[in-house]
Amino acid sequence: MPIRRLPEHLVNRIAAGEVVERPFAVVKELAENALDAGARRIDIFFHGGGRTLIEVADDGCGMTRDDLRLAVERHATSKLEGDDLVRIGTLGFRGEALASIGAVARMSIVSRAEEAPEAWEIRVEAGRVEEPKPAARPRGTTVSVRDLFFATPARLKFLRSEQAENREAAQTVRRLAMAHPEVAFLLATEKRRMVDLPAQSPEARMAAIMGRDFAASSFAVEAVREGYRLHGRASLPTLSHGQPSMQFLFVNGRPVQDRQLTGALRAAYRDVLAAGRHPYVALFIECPPELVDVNVHPAKREVRFRDPALVRGLIVRALREGLDAAAHRAADRLGDDLRSVVPGRGQGGTSLPPGLSRVVLEAQAPLPSPDAGRRVPSGLAEGAGVETGACESGDGTGHRPEGPEALAEPAARPPEAPDAAALSRPLGAALAQFHDTYILSQTDDGIVIVDQHAAHERLVYERLKRQREAEGIAVQPLLVPEVVDLPPDHAEALLGAAEELQSLGLKVEPFGGGAVVVREVPAVLAGGGIARLVADLAADMAEQELPLSLSERLDHVLATMACHHSVRAGRRLSREEMDALLREVERTPRSAQCNHGRPTYVKLTLADIERLFGRK
Ligand code: ADP
Ligand code: MG
Repeated sequence: MPIRRLPEHLVNRIAAGEVVERPFAVVKELAENALDAGARRIDIFFHGGGRTLIEVADDGCGMTRDDLRLAVERHATSKLEGDDLVRIGTLGFRGEALASIGAVARMSIVSRAEEAPEAWEIRVEAGRVEEPKPAARPRGTTVSVRDLFFATPARLKFLRSEQAENREAAQTVRRLAMAHPEVAFLLATEKRRMVDLPAQSPEARMAAIMGRDFAASSFAVEAVREGYRLHGRASLPTLSHGQPSMQFLFVNGRPVQDRQLTGALRAAYRDVLAAGRHPYVALFIECPPELVDVNVHPAKREVRFRDPALVRGLIVRALREGLDAAAHRAADRLGDDLRSVVPGRGQGGTSLPPGLSRVVLEAQAPLPSPDAGRRVPSGLAEGAGVETGACESGDGTGHRPEGPEALAEPAARPPEAPDAAALSRPLGAALAQFHDTYILSQTDDGIVIVDQHAAHERLVYERLKRQREAEGIAVQPLLVPEVVDLPPDHAEALLGAAEELQSLGLKVEPFGGGAVVVREVPAVLAGGGIARLVADLAADMAEQELPLSLSERLDHVLATMACHHSVRAGRRLSREEMDALLREVERTPRSAQCNHGRPTYVKLTLADIERLFGRK
């Protein structure tokens, strides 16, 4: 066949495949045009899941008759001054949205420019453009798109259910609305209003989109580095979602769904959210236009930063700092919850001086302790003074069920008064253990309940991470290498990561079939249920759908190790062990939450308790 130049309508139809993949993309392009036109109010009707009608009306600057003719042509735009593709200050700039939509649907644009005596309408049907006709409407523009994709039946087959398209359209509008609180947005289907937002303050807009809990369950983010500014809010680990749909990211006011940026979020929350949970965030990155390229994706969803590593670091660091600072506050939450149900709330008046009514731990500033600074390979054993006296029994494999800490058997002795010196510590002096699961301790002004497994898991994890970063993880060869049988695909995934695992102290080799043999383990984990740990790690690795960075994977492995080797609920602890655990929690950053984001301890002040009993 001879080479030929494609006719314009065919070129547009091909481009439409990228620019308007699905109905929500039409909503996005038309709403962006309205915002670029300076609209204060945007009304969107979305019928039949976007198949029958999408109509977007705005009160922006409008278009003249001549503008209308050009607007529907491909690569015609009013938004690029000169030839500068760098300083792009508008949402649009490619000049292909209207041409693309017109190529695959029946489109009508009615528009009236500022101070123009009349309005004009132009129609485009499957790429065929009609002459503009006079029409009537006040200043602004209404674009109606009927029978979307009727000209490309193949595309029609790929549309999802009406509900799914409605959901995407709503999400698209919310993204734009978050960046433009000063603009009123309405998105309605034939059945209901899906988004209805008045012009409002940025705070009110955020609350309207993220939900009322967000303000109280999030922290403010503000960081600047080398021309990039990051600001917004991000949720505490206590507020998360099973889908990433509550993540709103913007670059210079443009909503983006960028894998690099979501990767940075995942890295920041890795230690505090369980796999499969996603934080709520509304984060804005601002930078001079030359530091970011927005022209890398036809739908402009992704961006390239001049220095991607710097931006990632900026996000990860800012979020981690915020999470750390907020972490210990979470432990006070129970007090707040109780206060809210206890009678007499709000009547004020507590006999304790305000400063004493709450103890707030600052994660950033580790508390001074006599042994701070000394390298403590196993902090728990230190209090117990016994390194290897862990109890037998447990998992039936003949291994000690508990890992590294080798907790001593509780000594049989009469109860004593709590350690007076420890009373003034943030987590107080251990009083007792109950249900072999929780530690009860007393502080100067209240009590603390610690979940021993959650707290210990966190400590082991942080210790392994510190070791890895400092001098590498101490390794212990197994006298009798342990053979573990695995499903073949799990074994394959595990062996594929053998090198990483060895850098973490876990040496595994193939042993034929699905079996692997474990030859070395991290010293702190020696003696634990290695087989189960290895099986879990292998399953994790086989099932991980997301490609994690190496350090993310390493941390994930460490977290799994920590979980397996922490003091189980159900372990008896001696008073010394309990006190040692409390002291180590105080010393360890991020220790107010376990690796899955649950609190490791809760506090009640005397004032809280008195209110509980109606004494206040
Ligand atoms: P782009 O937005 O990339 O410029 P479009 O195809 O979306 O390309 O729009 C082409 C041109 O039509 C815009 O540059 C703008 O001048 C004009 N236009 C489109 N929509 C509107 C609107 N709602 N109000 C005013 N002008 C508009
Ligand atoms: Mg546009």
